[in-house]
Amino acid sequence: MTKKITIAIDGFSSTGKSTIAKQLAKELTYIYVDTGAMYRAVTLYAMQHNYISENHFNSEKLIADLHNISLSFTFNEELGFAEMFLNGTNVEREIRTIEVSKFVSKVAEVSEIRKKLVREQQEMGKNKGIVMDGRDIGTVVFPDAELKLFMTASADKRATRRYKELLDRGDNVNYEEILQNVQERDRIDSTREDSPLVMADDAIEFDNSDMGLKEQFERIMSLVNARIQ
Ligand code: C5P
Repeated sequence: MTKKITIAIDGFSSTGKSTIAKQLAKELTYIYVDTGAMYRAVTLYAMQHNYISENHFNSEKLIADLHNISLSFTFNEELGFAEMFLNGTNVEREIRTIEVSKFVSKVAEVSEIRKKLVREQQEMGKNKGIVMDGRDIGTVVFPDAELKLFMTASADKRATRRYKELLDRGDNVNYEEILQNVQERDRIDSTREDSPLVMADDAIEFDNSDMGLKEQFERIMSLVNARIQ
C-alpha cells in the first residue's frame, strides 16, 4: 500500500520544473499545480487594468482590486495538464508572453498578493497527492512536504530552453532578451524580502544542465518511491 505525499519543486526560471512536475503527476496520478501560472495570471490582470507597464507599477490599486481576481485550473484532456483561467477566461497562452515575463517578478514581490496565492495553494494541497512547482513551495507553502527538489541549470541552458519553447509556439522572440529576462527574474526572485527564492535546508538539489529528461525522471522517481512505500 503506497501513501500519498506532497512533492515541492522549486528553483530558478526555466530549469524544467514544470516538465518534470507534469511527468511525476502523470506517473503518480497526482494533481499538478504550476504556481508560476498564478503569479503570471495576476500580472496579466494588472496589465489589462493598467496597474503595471514599463516604469510604472501601482501596487496599491492592484492590492485593492485583488478580491476581483479569481484564479482556477481546468484540466485539458488533450494537452494532459491543467490550464490557467483568470475570471473564467482561459489565459494559458497570454500568460507565457515575454511581456508578462517582464513584469511578473515585480508583481510577485507584493506580500498581499503572495498571501492570497499561498492560501489558495495550501488549500489545493491539503489532501496531499500533489506536485507543486514554484519558488517558495518547499520553504513557505508546504514546509512539511515529504519530498523537496531544488532545480538549477546554467543561465544559458535555461534561456535556450525558454527561447525554443516560445519559437515553437510561433512567438517572435530574441534570445538576448530572453537571457536578460531570465537573469533579471532570478535576481529579483532571490533578493526580494518576502519569501525569496532559496533552497530549503531539506531540499535535494538537481543541476540538470547536462542531464537528460529520462535520467532526471528516473532519479527523482526513486526518491519518490523511497517515500511512498
Ligand atoms: O515559474 P514561472 O517562471 O512561470 O514563474 C514566473 C514568476 O512568478 C517567477 O519569476 C517569480 O517571480 C514568480 N513566482 C513566485 N513564487 C512562486 C512561483 C512563481 O514568486 N511560487
